[in-house]
Amino acid sequence: MKSKNITPIDIYESEQYKLDAYFDNLPETKYRKDYIEDKINKLDSNLIVSNRKDKYFIKQKRVYCPHCYSKDINENGYFPKDIILVNQGLVKCKIKRYECKTCKKGFSADISCIVDKNFTVSHDVKDTVQEYYSIDHTSVRKIQEFMKKIHGVSISHQEVEDIIVDYSIHYNPDISEYSGHYAFDALWIKIKELSDKWVFLLALMDVCHDTIVAYKIVEHETEKEVYKFLSQATQNQPRIAITTDLKQDYRKPISDLKFEHQFCHFHFKQNVNKTIREYVKENNLPESKIKEFKSYLPKLYAIFDLESMTEVDEMMDNLRKRINEFPEIIQEIFNDKFAPNYRNLTKYIENPKIEHTSNMIERIFGDLAPKHIKRKYKTVKGFLSRFSLKLKRWDQRNAFY
Ligand SMILES: [Zn+2]
Repeated sequence: MKSKNITPIDIYESEQYKLDAYFDNLPETKYRKDYIEDKINKLDSNLIVSNRKDKYFIKQKRVYCPHCYSKDINENGYFPKDIILVNQGLVKCKIKRYECKTCKKGFSADISCIVDKNFTVSHDVKDTVQEYYSIDHTSVRKIQEFMKKIHGVSISHQEVEDIIVDYSIHYNPDISEYSGHYAFDALWIKIKELSDKWVFLLALMDVCHDTIVAYKIVEHETEKEVYKFLSQATQNQPRIAITTDLKQDYRKPISDLKFEHQFCHFHFKQNVNKTIREYVKENNLPESKIKEFKSYLPKLYAIFDLESMTEVDEMMDNLRKRINEFPEIIQEIFNDKFAPNYRNLTKYIENPKIEHTSNMIERIFGDLAPKHIKRKYKTVKGFLSRFSLKLKRWDQRNAFY
């Protein structure tokens, strides 16, 4: 083991260093200064920070004019700027001003790595707020409290809200090539700004990367919108197969775009069960009939376990010949639902990368916009920024790249 002599003073100093990092408004200590200087230096190696009279003076190491790229520059004093840093609170800074000798234009040291123009809250604080938000739906008030108690940052309820909403609203996972195998679905949400009607979040998931690669809010879930969305989302990407529920409006766009279309087994079976329940009710049959009718279904569903399309076609031929041995409602289900769709229910048999359910995307929706939280939002931007944050979090935990 590497041995390093640690004196009690070292321990005191390193603990002090950490403690200082947790509270603002402490008297300036050498450790606090070192901590802040260190932090800023690490953000941009072109910045130099020095502390004089409790203020942080920030200038550039190498300077050139951002207007004409001349390197012939005069220094021209400082301007004051307050910056709120995580674990530091409000830090008083002085930012170097420059003047270009060639074009005579003025500019200041580039601190865009720390804070946006006209902002006091640093990127650091924004990231921390967003991180809290993305964990288990932490409330705005709780985040405000964490920021104060843990990070020494006092910001208002409204500021926290603004940070969450301002998050770049089009977070997309950094995948250069999609697998070509997708699941597609729409989530219903209500947005006040859009006259408080139900609107749709269309989302496309890459099932091999296990993450959403595109999403968009539309007011109507029409064939035209679905086509537009899918074609833009997969532009310059492989188009192999999409798994969806059985919604009619998805079918034409998906076939027009030359995707193989797999119908979700889960939704299909749900639909069949509903048909049986309704049939029993309409015909005033006893409840026990539901179970009896359902007991025939495995004979149809056996097709899902076959290993080739040849076997599938054979079994379909057999079923067609024997279907009048089945109860009336099962014949109806076979003729109206099963036979017309069996090819779209069995696409995965010859391509194991195709998902036979769209459960994966429902699982993401469940995580990103849980049912127990009302799916009601004030603005489109607000919803999208929240969704983006959740997606980023999902990505970090689950996605495969
Ligand atoms: Zn210039």
